Amino acid sequence: MSNPTCSSLGVFVGSSKCNANCAHCAGVPHRQFAPKHDGIVNTKLIKDTLIKCSQMGATSLSLSSSGEPTLSPESVSIVLEIVCELSHQYHFNNIHLYSNGILIGKDEEFCDEYLGYWRSLGLDTIYLTVHSVDPIKNAQIYGIKKYPPFVRVINRIHRANLKVRANVVLGKETISCADEFIDLVEKLLKLKVDSISSWGVRDKDDQYDVENSLNEEEYDKIEKYIFNNGFKNVKLYRESLHRDSYIDNNKLTLFPDGTLSNTWCNS
Ligand code: SF4
Repeated sequence: MSNPTCSSLGVFVGSSKCNANCAHCAGVPHRQFAPKHDGIVNTKLIKDTLIKCSQMGATSLSLSSSGEPTLSPESVSIVLEIVCELSHQYHFNNIHLYSNGILIGKDEEFCDEYLGYWRSLGLDTIYLTVHSVDPIKNAQIYGIKKYPPFVRVINRIHRANLKVRANVVLGKETISCADEFIDLVEKLLKLKVDSISSWGVRDKDDQYDVENSLNEEEYDKIEKYIFNNGFKNVKLYRESLHRDSYIDNNKLTLFPDGTLSNTWCNS
């Protein structure tokens, strides 16, 4: 039997605190197991998991959370310090942090204190979830009163020498057809995001939400648009084509309850 392999590792970091209230939050079921405060990290478990997954071939690392990771900055720093300390022997080529961008856009002091430091520890990209480039619609979907201007969020990330990947969730309540996706991509590229990745909306159990997602013809149109424009930095992950990589254990996630499994979509 061949040795198990892993291409990418996702790690839940920080408390379950969040500054948004999304209707379909996949973090909710995991919140009961998350630490109560920022700065509480199971360093041994994280270190052992990083080593194990690196030995299994993982080269990509995602830091995620059952809340918003930027609200647990000490925890993010501790995890990145461990990653940095191990990097001479167990090296990850791509290290990224998922964020809703709210704190980055609102708090310049936070950006000055942490983003550059995280960059120095090896973080390379912020994965920014974008529901709409219209700040009013984006705020509505995030369930908040006001979302900061995208240009400010993106500039602050770039100023720390980090890249921005916009994560676009396709669904009836967000980007509901190919034309809306195309409009969003054009606006995001003008705002100078470095790359865009998109996939169909998932439910609270992180399963593909067939009811709220786009129909297959719209996915076909999006695929054609990406292909015809020769975009290398715009990607669509179609459930029918990419689900296998999770089932094959290629993408593993360390959950707040200490479980390491392939059930989370850390695209
Ligand atoms: S920003 Fe993320 S963690 Fe916060 S409510 Fe929305 S989906 Fe959940």
